[in-house]
Amino acid sequence: MNKLQHISNFLAENGVDMTFLTQPTTINYLTGLHIDPHERIAGLIILPDDAPYLFVPALEVAKAESIVDSSIRVFGYQDSENPWLTVATKIKRAPKKIAISYPDTTMLYMEGLRSQFANVSYVDISPLIGRMRLRKSDDELKKLKVSGSYADKCFEIGFKLAREGLAAGITETDIVAKIEYEMKRMGVPQMSFETIVLSGARAANPHGEPENVAIENNKLLLFDLGTMFDGYASDATRTIGLGEISSFDQEIHKIVLEAQLAATDAIKPGLFVNEIDKVARDVITKAGYGEYFVHRLGHGIGMEVHEYPSIGGADEIEIEKGFAFSVEPGIYIPGKVGVRIEDCIVVSSTGAINLTQTPKELQIF
Ligand code: MN
Ligand code: MN
Repeated sequence: MNKLQHISNFLAENGVDMTFLTQPTTINYLTGLHIDPHERIAGLIILPDDAPYLFVPALEVAKAESIVDSSIRVFGYQDSENPWLTVATKIKRAPKKIAISYPDTTMLYMEGLRSQFANVSYVDISPLIGRMRLRKSDDELKKLKVSGSYADKCFEIGFKLAREGLAAGITETDIVAKIEYEMKRMGVPQMSFETIVLSGARAANPHGEPENVAIENNKLLLFDLGTMFDGYASDATRTIGLGEISSFDQEIHKIVLEAQLAATDAIKPGLFVNEIDKVARDVITKAGYGEYFVHRLGHGIGMEVHEYPSIGGADEIEIEKGFAFSVEPGIYIPGKVGVRIEDCIVVSSTGAINLTQTPKELQIF
């Protein structure tokens, strides 16, 4: 069954009259069309008993028609027109119940829908779409693997540069700039998020931002990065050493690595995602550093770098073959040291397959 039909059936079973989906990645996932309408209005209307509609700005119509399945009716509106009138004119039956994605639908869209359709109730369709996006097809898996291989390439570039530039006072942002420059030269147009390079105690902030400060000798250096390839994200973290690494820092790295490997080894269909979080957390807690592992174990990944579900959060769901998510335990001791090790994995029928291959053992340069 195709994706649109799957949603259509959901609407029929739940007495929902139509969707109004606006998030560009969701529209891309469901139709193959990548557009970013910015402040203009774009919407995918799926119906329980009829073919879908796609509303886009007039300048996107030709592109949309050339890409989406011919069963999807594409309508455009001029900038001078009220797009909501176009929507209301094409919809034959006034809806009473509309499915939208609560996290993505802004008040601008809500007011637009309200201006045309009275006495409507809303239902959140984001959990259904999140679950659909979580199960990767073979084609999606291939793209995730290629994206992962570019993340490996980024590590190679970054490690080499850190080693060669250390004595000359190379900075965190120098390394970020070089990695992203080399990616663009390789034809990777975009990173999947802002590249993170943090030296020494600066890595003790899990959301730290690289600055124009020299990386330190005899300290750890954390890289968290990812690329976009063919619409799919990668996301991986490595913590390496430069010079002489203290036995304390080595010990912290060893514990995080043990937690990361234990959690990855535990992954298999049938377990619940929070059980995987617990495996990693138990390793770190037993070693005495539980209070310094201050975030969930991971998150889904796909067309966006953070997707449903939370691994170790509120989303307690059973793992299935084809799920893709990150495994990224860390220990952050303020003012001292920060270590995180992250791979994204895809679930096979028997276990987990890493999407990045850079060695995880402490590499000292
Ligand atoms: Mn991540
Ligand atoms: Mn990451």
